Amino acid sequence: MIDLHSHSNASDGALSPTELVKYAREKGLVAIAITDHDTVEGVEEALTAGKEFALEVVPGIEISAEFPEETMHILGYYMDSKDQKFIDNISVLQKARAERNPRIVKNLQKLGLNIEYDEILKEAGSGQVGRPHFAKVLLNKGYVKTTQQAFNRYLKKGAPGYEDKFRFQPEAAISHILSAGGLPVLAHPATLRCKTEDDLETEIKKLISYGLKGIEAYYSDHTNSQTEVYIKLADKYGLFITGGSDFHGHNVKGIDLGTGKGKLDVPYEFLQKMKESR
Ligand SMILES: [Zn+2]
Ligand SMILES: [Zn+2]
Repeated sequence: MIDLHSHSNASDGALSPTELVKYAREKGLVAIAITDHDTVEGVEEALTAGKEFALEVVPGIEISAEFPEETMHILGYYMDSKDQKFIDNISVLQKARAERNPRIVKNLQKLGLNIEYDEILKEAGSGQVGRPHFAKVLLNKGYVKTTQQAFNRYLKKGAPGYEDKFRFQPEAAISHILSAGGLPVLAHPATLRCKTEDDLETEIKKLISYGLKGIEAYYSDHTNSQTEVYIKLADKYGLFITGGSDFHGHNVKGIDLGTGKGKLDVPYEFLQKMKESR
């Protein structure tokens, strides 16, 4: 079993890259990809840990792309994580994140919540600050009963605490990954929330024209019928298939590395095919 979608505390995961690799090994996985949001800061440490614990580690990233109303994430695999141009390109996104977080605090304060940015920074520790940290603080302070409730009431798109942030257009996200020698993959196509299969196919054709190489067909939140549709489209357009859990450690409850919500099972063959397409 493998897992091609996981987050470390270089973004909003709970485990350090080394802990993540160690945990994958304990779970009996043979390969994982580290795909932190908008950063490759955890990649070197994960690669080193991979050697130490004899686990295949795939360098990766997950870039948020502009997609009106809904969520489009583009995964990238096998970029040269030391490529300075790539690092410069994505640093724009980290800056956008950093500017967004204090604005979320202001929104929450305006709603009458007693919350300070320092509390969020403390919760995040050394990693990138993200909405899961806000959710945790809201939970700890008793404003919500679960972190999910924190997202629903305050933090998700459209909720009163939400702040939008700069994102790349899909074309730019894909082109940055390609320029650094990486393979761009559409993450969890279900979050595009396309109304029909034809709409989804239209979006995927656009992404292919920018250079998309794969689709994340296996994912914790995909139903069997969704997965089937994504595989069908991948076959039709000669894209490879990937799969992963979107593991964040205890920051996102109910999703485990490798098995996702219990039924996920991504075969090594997927990684083999991805590597052959390089
Ligand atoms: Zn995602
Ligand atoms: Zn993710």
